[in-house]
Amino acid sequence: MAADFDAATPDPLRSAFDQWSTATLVTQVLWVRSLGATAIAAAGHARFDALTRFARARSPLYREAWKHLPTGPLQLAGLPIVTKHALMAAFDSWCTDPAVTRTAVDGFLAERAHIGERFLDRYLVWMSSGSTGEPGIYVQDRGALAAYDAMVSAQLTSPGLAGCNWQHVAAQGGRAALIAADTDHFASIASWRRLANGKPWLDMKSFAVTQPLPDIVRELNAYQPAFVSSYPTVLALLADEQQAGRLAIRPAALWSGGEGLSRSARRAIERVFGCPLQNEYGASECLTIAHACREGWLHVDADWVILEPVDRHYRPTPAGELSHTVLLTNLANTVQPIIRYDLGDSVRAGVGPCACGSPLPAIQVEGRSDDVLGLRARDGTLAHLVPLALTTVVEDAARVHRFQIVQSAPDRLGLRLMDADRARAGATAAGALRAYLDRHALSNVAVVLEPGEPQPERRGGKLRQVVAL
Ligand SMILES: [Zn+2]
Repeated sequence: MAADFDAATPDPLRSAFDQWSTATLVTQVLWVRSLGATAIAAAGHARFDALTRFARARSPLYREAWKHLPTGPLQLAGLPIVTKHALMAAFDSWCTDPAVTRTAVDGFLAERAHIGERFLDRYLVWMSSGSTGEPGIYVQDRGALAAYDAMVSAQLTSPGLAGCNWQHVAAQGGRAALIAADTDHFASIASWRRLANGKPWLDMKSFAVTQPLPDIVRELNAYQPAFVSSYPTVLALLADEQQAGRLAIRPAALWSGGEGLSRSARRAIERVFGCPLQNEYGASECLTIAHACREGWLHVDADWVILEPVDRHYRPTPAGELSHTVLLTNLANTVQPIIRYDLGDSVRAGVGPCACGSPLPAIQVEGRSDDVLGLRARDGTLAHLVPLALTTVVEDAARVHRFQIVQSAPDRLGLRLMDADRARAGATAAGALRAYLDRHALSNVAVVLEPGEPQPERRGGKLRQVVAL
């Protein structure tokens, strides 16, 4: 935990100690999970006690919010709910290290050369894009990073990747490719650069998802990765390219996150590439929350994460029913405690044990599904644009966070902005989309700034940002 951080350690994120502590944690994760649901719950409970004690002692925000509660161990259900808006508004008093201030973090984030570098020599920082309307800034301590690493390592040895041919990975030089939004300090690119910086003996390369698909295909053909990580919508498009013969790579394993992935889509991608695909459910607030099993469920890493599906009044939603939102408690990170945080996703908890045999609780997540757009170029060819690339382009150029891109015809995109943003940022946002389409040889596609505001989904606070009508 951050509390035991020793300032004399010269290079904490990259030191041999970290390698050692991650290896120990992996063993611990596998051991606890092999003991079954009771041991997992006990590990989660012990971490919850430690985290709440720490938050009460070091975070002025939580101390104030909990001042009416009894001293001594706290009960999860008795704690008040927190929102992104409230935490961001009280950033300095939320953090448990007085050196972590909004001013200091903003200064760090302003430099994009710092993506994946250490903040204050001991933290990793990333920001979220704004599907709930405002971006968040998340600081991760050494303990959190070691826990995320351990959870990912545990997945690499899980039955989900049992079909992975590790000799094949080694034969390809272990080359690993990430295709993601890399224009700012987002969680996936920051984590990837941190790993690449800390393990120079690994061959890891990232590719901008905002470039035209043929360029990504050309670069992947040249790189020949053994491991590919991206959003499900990107992997699906790459599978089409592979099937058409334009992409010719032989990965041994695929990894996806950031969007939902149906069982049929997963099977189709695995069939084309002839290797397993592991899908993960995470968030900027907690990098690894759950991972998919062969039965199509996501298993919550309940020894490190607490998820509470709730209705619109924050009352528990029974298993089997779709929740309005979900409360997240991240048991791994102490510098910026996330405790009963309204995450905005609608989830359905499984009833009874999963057929895959995992002792971890199973959930399904709804509404993390933006559409891939199929746009018709002037010469009649169809170009596919992935949602995360489109949203990144608009956010990056216009600094708007709550918006919607709606395709109403094969050659027409509507852009909906909040009324407060339209005059200030409308022309810039539309101009960025225009330039993006031009780069994809889609200059015939019209971009229209629509009068209405974005239309949110019925459940949760999240917005589908890219919609094909
Ligand atoms: Zn399962």
